[in-house]
Amino acid sequence: MKKIIIFLLIILLQQGVLALDNLRNVGIAKYAVLEVVNNNTPIRDTNSENSIRMTHLLKGSVVFADKQTKDYYRVVLDNNYFGFINKKNVEVQAIIPEKRFDAIEKITKSETKKDYKIFIETPFLAATQFKEDTKNLNFTLFDNHFDPKNIKFDNDKNFSYPKKIDTKFQLKYSNSAPLFGYGIEKFNKGYVLSIKKAPKINKKKPLKNITVIVDAGHGGNERGACAFGYEEKNINLQISKKLKRELQKKGARVYLTRKKDKKVTLSKRIEFAREKNADIFLSIHQNSLPNRKDIDKKYGVGTYYYRNQSKGLAQSIQKNLLVATKFRDDKVNHASFAVVRPTEFLSVLVECGYIIRKQEVDKLIEPKFQKNLSKAIVKGVEDYLRNNY
Ligand SMILES: [Zn+2]
Repeated sequence: MKKIIIFLLIILLQQGVLALDNLRNVGIAKYAVLEVVNNNTPIRDTNSENSIRMTHLLKGSVVFADKQTKDYYRVVLDNNYFGFINKKNVEVQAIIPEKRFDAIEKITKSETKKDYKIFIETPFLAATQFKEDTKNLNFTLFDNHFDPKNIKFDNDKNFSYPKKIDTKFQLKYSNSAPLFGYGIEKFNKGYVLSIKKAPKINKKKPLKNITVIVDAGHGGNERGACAFGYEEKNINLQISKKLKRELQKKGARVYLTRKKDKKVTLSKRIEFAREKNADIFLSIHQNSLPNRKDIDKKYGVGTYYYRNQSKGLAQSIQKNLLVATKFRDDKVNHASFAVVRPTEFLSVLVECGYIIRKQEVDKLIEPKFQKNLSKAIVKGVEDYLRNNY
């Protein structure tokens, strides 16, 4: 009997379907202390690579796990609030009987014309989480005691926080205009949050002083979708160059993530946008379908976003693209593409049309059509800025 159970266990382990294994069963241990070893590590809502990303953690952050599967630890963020972290992204530092809570020493705010910076001084870089809707940003730092006395920025109507000591710190930012980007970094005493202020838009020239990154999808040996002898990467670059010129004409500061046919990784593209202090990131693609039999069901122009702060921009661009291209409405879609996931700037991805659809690709390769399409994107951005800020 014993042999059979061991045999079954081995099979289950090999298949990776072993249910959550309770760390509590290992002697007196209750929690594994995990240090995050890769930057931008996701915590997901289930133990699968395809599941929802609840938050991303910076390298060096520390979390606590109470259970595990073959590839994941279950992380205890708060009472009855759990997430899953892939084992390849963490190192076990210790096994401890109780979760550790540390005290935030001080929280201060500084302000420039462009943004707010919130400095959270704590020796313990615990898990963090942002939740945003269009105009509100909620930030949580878990596993940290916080005494409201140590907050040094009262009377700012844009910020609120709990007035009592808690086991986590939560800060809420709200404004009358939609969010325009935010982020978190480490500094020598803890974490620093940056929240961009709503830009002051020149209604006649909305793109003045706005930094836009134009991202021609794929490149080099990554050809993207191909059909009828055309390669997506080339169409993307042709449109991106025209888009750059049109944006510049309207006063924007514009940078291309690639100027020629070469491979650029997704993380390099995002890094580049951060370096340039991007306000808006526009990624240009041509669409395809895994199964080309569906081509008469799904086609046309579509715009993609991931963060709520970018949804309005995606809608405005899509509206203008429909007018300019007269293509079928392939809608504004929420999708977890790497280039639309960053929080520091507004980011959308445009699928200008379907390269696998002859009627569309014939137009998409035409210089005049490309120029009109670029102008429509520019108008979408201008309308959005003018109407919201
Ligand atoms: Zn593509």
